[in-house]
Amino acid sequence: MPQLYPPLEAPKRLLFGPGPSPVAPRVYQAMQQNVVGHLDPFFFQVADEIRELLGYVFSTANLRNLAVSGTGSSGMEAAVANFTEPGTKLALLTNGFFADRIGEMARRHGAEVTRLAKSWGEPFDAQEAREFIRRERPQVVALVQAETSTGMYNQAKPVCEAAHEVDALVIADCVTSLGGMPVLVDENGIDIAYSCTQKGLGCPPGLAPMTISPRALERLRARQTPVQSWYLDLELLDTYYSGHKYHHTASATMFYALREGLAMVAEEGRENRWERHRRNHLAFVAGIQAMGLAMHVPEGHRLWTLNTPRVPEGVDDAKVRQYLLERHGLEIAGGFGPLAGKIFRIGLMGYGSTADNVLMLLEALEEALAEQGYQPVASGKAAAETALDRAR
Ligand SMILES: *Cc1c(COP(=O)(O)O)cnc(C)c1O
Repeated sequence: MPQLYPPLEAPKRLLFGPGPSPVAPRVYQAMQQNVVGHLDPFFFQVADEIRELLGYVFSTANLRNLAVSGTGSSGMEAAVANFTEPGTKLALLTNGFFADRIGEMARRHGAEVTRLAKSWGEPFDAQEAREFIRRERPQVVALVQAETSTGMYNQAKPVCEAAHEVDALVIADCVTSLGGMPVLVDENGIDIAYSCTQKGLGCPPGLAPMTISPRALERLRARQTPVQSWYLDLELLDTYYSGHKYHHTASATMFYALREGLAMVAEEGRENRWERHRRNHLAFVAGIQAMGLAMHVPEGHRLWTLNTPRVPEGVDDAKVRQYLLERHGLEIAGGFGPLAGKIFRIGLMGYGSTADNVLMLLEALEEALAEQGYQPVASGKAAAETALDRAR
């Protein structure tokens, strides 16, 4: 009988979009280890190592660090579900898609959402953000530190300071910063931070790392109503990870992956890792600008993990992306919402952020743009090489 379904063989894509990012070989190896039960002492040993490593990677002394079963959005929903109740006032700073997703979740959980909105990719003025929070006096403030829809890094510190003045908790989305840029939970004063496994940490999607401050835990214990989501209830999750009682069957395989991804951050050193991302980002930007393309986000506000050059006049961004995928097996993303057709979103994250990848990407992009009739002003690759040499 012919074999209708031969063993699966996935293509080897070069993942340079906004996530998933390339998975580190050491992470793949960890994922081939034997599955153990979700209550096995070995599972809890791995969970404890994750707790400890998350403290290091988030730069926090918090003891309540955990991985929620689900992608980054499950971390977002856990943050919203546990720290809002019907009627809670949540002040949202939004300048992109993911901040609006927080707002939509909060609305569904019955919170009263008030917004300070900027256009996609426009930075917040610290003074304006402070005044917004002082005026609104919310119980919770939410912001996206690394806005993946635009490529912008939003400063958390002034927001946290103003929030704490009015005794509000701060939720920060650190999905695209963790493992690639300073998140600095304690230094910034973030109360609840969440992230994912498939961006700066070099793992497949599947878990949402989180950290919760002691202040936030006090607030959690003072809730008037039960958390509406049973699955994402942080106190119930603590009876599992700390109390070793069954709550759900967490994926041992994904825990191995995250443990390994975090161990690799610790081995490299978080500061060295940030510096690697910064250096490669700057070289990539030097290349992009040499080619004559403009960056969407102003200098000083850019993510080191995700670059957003503007699509040059007369170029069809979908055709460029299709060319890269078909010719090079290379994935980058386009913009969406108000930025559809206007920007490329090119990730250099985690295991994928290397000098070789910067040069390879620029060369491929140059070729794809030439195919669309765009003649680069100068060689992007040469400019990036100069920048990398200078940084050495
Ligand atoms: C990717 C992303 C998310 C959602 O994560 P998923 O893993 O896709 O659920 C949330 N916030 C930001 C800023 C992101 O970049």
